[in-house]
Amino acid sequence: MSKVEQAVKTVLSHVDAYYAFCLEGCFHCHVCAYNCPFFNTFHTWEYVPVMIGDEVRKIYRYVSTLSGRILRSLASASKPSERDFEKWAKMAYNCFMCGGCSVACASILEEPPFTHLLRSAVHTAGLTPKPLADYALNELETGHPLRLSKEEWLSFIESSKSELGFDIPIDLEGADYLLIPGWLEVKESPSTLKAAFKALNHLTSMLRIYYGVKATWTVSSEIYCLAFIPMMIGDFDGGEQLLKKVVEKIEKLKPKTVVVVGADYGFRVLKVMSRKLLKEPLPFQVKHILTVLDENLCALNLNKHANTDPVTYHDPCQIARWSGVYREARGVLKAAVENYREMYPSGLLNWCCMGGGGLYEIPEKRDTILKAFALKADQIYKTRAKIVATACTTCKLMLAEGCKHYGIPVEIVDAIELVAKAIK
Ligand code: SF4
Ligand code: SF4
Repeated sequence: MSKVEQAVKTVLSHVDAYYAFCLEGCFHCHVCAYNCPFFNTFHTWEYVPVMIGDEVRKIYRYVSTLSGRILRSLASASKPSERDFEKWAKMAYNCFMCGGCSVACASILEEPPFTHLLRSAVHTAGLTPKPLADYALNELETGHPLRLSKEEWLSFIESSKSELGFDIPIDLEGADYLLIPGWLEVKESPSTLKAAFKALNHLTSMLRIYYGVKATWTVSSEIYCLAFIPMMIGDFDGGEQLLKKVVEKIEKLKPKTVVVVGADYGFRVLKVMSRKLLKEPLPFQVKHILTVLDENLCALNLNKHANTDPVTYHDPCQIARWSGVYREARGVLKAAVENYREMYPSGLLNWCCMGGGGLYEIPEKRDTILKAFALKADQIYKTRAKIVATACTTCKLMLAEGCKHYGIPVEIVDAIELVAKAIK
């Protein structure tokens, strides 16, 4: 089978009834463009979100519809060829997968699934940007995109135990909360993880002391990363196998709730996409740590006077827009800081950090994403906040780099770090 035939087969095998509806239901009104960070930065046709959908639509109509095969371009269909791969590679990685276009779409279509689909064709042709292809391979082979070993993870736990002064239970069966981070925290943002340990330890202690609830928490020695980069680059088979392995390993510990910290896309795959991919519901709940804290604010008894500087919050796209966690972040932050300020727009309509969809990891994209960051910089600057809190480590790193680039004097933290500071 030629590369083109393989690519077409991969793309079409994932076009279910819903995607077919999305492909056929587009009016080409281009309303979605006005919520796309790329289009709002460069204002060219190349960056209109629907152009990505159009490439998938051309393949779908040519192969799957009679009118497409007979009328070709008259029916917006065309026969895919090797020449298309370079163009697809460029388009599929000119997208943050932020979902801004989806929430703006006049007929509520999902554009980022088309990005997933176009990326799958690009992956078949071996044109996935090298850093992402390498991370995906590492994750498939070792369970971690950075090949962080079990020994390194356990040694991080040991050092955190002595620094924080309390026990961090490992592999406790049937715990109420099983904490799983993303893939960057141990190496790039250990303060996020230590704050999460402190918050869960405090929460379970307070539940025991004040409410007599025997709440327990734990970390796993086997599952210490949620990333799913194969899925992000369109390697659906690899991504599904990985998801099954992760779920099997979690199931062995029988947790009531998996609590995620730092991860963005990994959180969305486990919480939102797993139902469709595994074709059955998960045997445990999946919650973001901010949700768990928001549900237990009274027990936490936070001291907001520990954080006096003005704080604003950046909603990570995969956590807010794609997984519905945005009110919870406000609930927690308003209890943990004295002076909370909202960005405009925010929540479901927030601008991406401009590092999403794996673009933060691609050096050739640096100039482009830093140009797009002007939108984010403007949002942040107008709040006059001194601290920007977020809930995803890629966002944290990108916001720090972008704010430095534009000379905005702010500190970037994970929201959980402000919570840890507010614990009495
Ligand atoms: S997902 Fe985001 S970056 Fe991609 S096309 Fe839609 S709005 Fe633009
Ligand atoms: S807003 Fe929706 S219907 Fe209009 S062009 Fe964009 S994807 Fe198509």
